[in-house]
Amino acid sequence: MPKDETSTSNYTGPIPDPDILTAKEFWEGTQNQNLVLPKCKSCKEFFFYPRIICPKKGCHKTDIIWEVASGKGYLYTFAIQHVAIDGWKEKLPFVTAFIDTDEKVRMLSVLKNVDASQPQSIIIGSRVEVKFEYVNDDISIPYWEIINDK
Ligand SMILES: [Zn+2]
Repeated sequence: MPKDETSTSNYTGPIPDPDILTAKEFWEGTQNQNLVLPKCKSCKEFFFYPRIICPKKGCHKTDIIWEVASGKGYLYTFAIQHVAIDGWKEKLPFVTAFIDTDEKVRMLSVLKNVDASQPQSIIIGSRVEVKFEYVNDDISIPYWEIINDK
């Protein structure tokens, strides 16, 4: 949803408290409907979650840049959630998923607009695209949807 004065949120889940030391750029990106990922300037590899040191074996450099990612990837695996606490209860059942992005990072996220009562209809390896749920003027939360794009 575009961020404007008419934006309202139906979001009931927990609201992240962004770590401005390591993830400021990530959350600024989500406000603009962009998936922005950390990338090591030395080994040129993207990584996730955000941190101040490159996690790649043999690298561990601290020169990190941020780039707008494709926002696309593949469904690596998923789980149907039938039990949850707090604001997540209202969304049950919902689907959590590991997404392998085109930048070769794996993200734990939520897969929406799938039928959680029919898990056999959710196909591992499906092409997915990131979307963003507006929470407030500081936070939009990424989630993923299956798309028909090979
Ligand atoms: Zn590196």
